[in-house]
Amino acid sequence: MSKFLSSRFAGMQPYVPGEQPQGRQYIKLNTNESPFPPAPGVLSALSREEIARLNLYPDPDAREAGAAIAAYYGLQGDEVLLTNGSDEALAFCFQAYCDADTPAVYADITYGFYKVFARIYCVPSKVIPLTPRLEIDPEAYRDAGGTVFLANPNAPTGLALPLEQVEWILKHNRENIVVVDEAYVDFGGKSALPLLKKHDNLIIVQTMSKARNLAGARLGYALSNPALIADLNNMRFSFNPYNVNRLSLLAGAAAIRDEAYFRQCTAAIMENRAYTAEELRRRGFAVLESKANFLFAKPDRLSGEAYYAALKGKGVLVRHFAQPRIADYVRVSIGTREQMQALLGATDEIWREL
Ligand SMILES: *Cc1c(COP(=O)(O)O)cnc(C)c1O
Repeated sequence: MSKFLSSRFAGMQPYVPGEQPQGRQYIKLNTNESPFPPAPGVLSALSREEIARLNLYPDPDAREAGAAIAAYYGLQGDEVLLTNGSDEALAFCFQAYCDADTPAVYADITYGFYKVFARIYCVPSKVIPLTPRLEIDPEAYRDAGGTVFLANPNAPTGLALPLEQVEWILKHNRENIVVVDEAYVDFGGKSALPLLKKHDNLIIVQTMSKARNLAGARLGYALSNPALIADLNNMRFSFNPYNVNRLSLLAGAAAIRDEAYFRQCTAAIMENRAYTAEELRRRGFAVLESKANFLFAKPDRLSGEAYYAALKGKGVLVRHFAQPRIADYVRVSIGTREQMQALLGATDEIWREL
């Protein structure tokens, strides 16, 4: 750290993304990317002609892609905000709805960025522990007294909170915003979308990074009522009005229009998830009931960290979090059937070598 860095960032711990190794070819099951390419329409949308227009700024209102996303969810254009990855949508929520008197409220075990955002925007956090079974207890969120950030399904557990319980939290926090981060909702969870019309304090955040195979395009969005979307747009225009680049807008519009391909990819992931969960359980792992494109699993013969390291030695990358309560687990992204078989094969070898 330089001597010039503002003292308010002393000791700040930034978000640590999963490894993106550039040398050795790993079987990459560590960052919850899709193993499948973007929809065919995305490839044809990114034509040479469009590349030749990169001298021009993108539409700051993202009208075309915004309309495609709104139509997909049965919303109006002013109920959608497009962002540079959903992380940016979450950042705008922190900027708009958290302050010294309105803490960010989130679980002890959840998406790591909430804590980082609270730190960088200098707002207090109210951390609510998950239950011993690593579940969200809605009762613990009654009148939480701040802006609630709920990942549903949660990360890295993969556990989903039933929609009735999401609504219960909305009803018991009427004076505060509840942000439901649905990065993984398309892998078997239930979206809070039907609750938008009934609750004026709900913001849903989704991403094209996971179920739409576009992690590299950096495209996310917030869905809410026009008043809250206008707040978030104020943040956006005060920060980076051209926040989504031309090519990503085209890619996103093409991706959301190909429903069949989306269904095919997410169905394959859910099938491979069921297969992998069963195979891991047969090998003695405790595996949480995932509604996401990853499994959270605890080996019975090695620590989480030792298993992670042994897999890495065999060319398979998974994610380990050295964090109290979950250090015994690893998070395994769901890839193709062949990738999952490679994980299981490597696991069998590790067990034989013990
Ligand atoms: C992956 C992820 C995101 C953010 O993804 P972007 O690539 O920034 O859209 C947000 N929330 C959760 C819980 C995630 O796992």
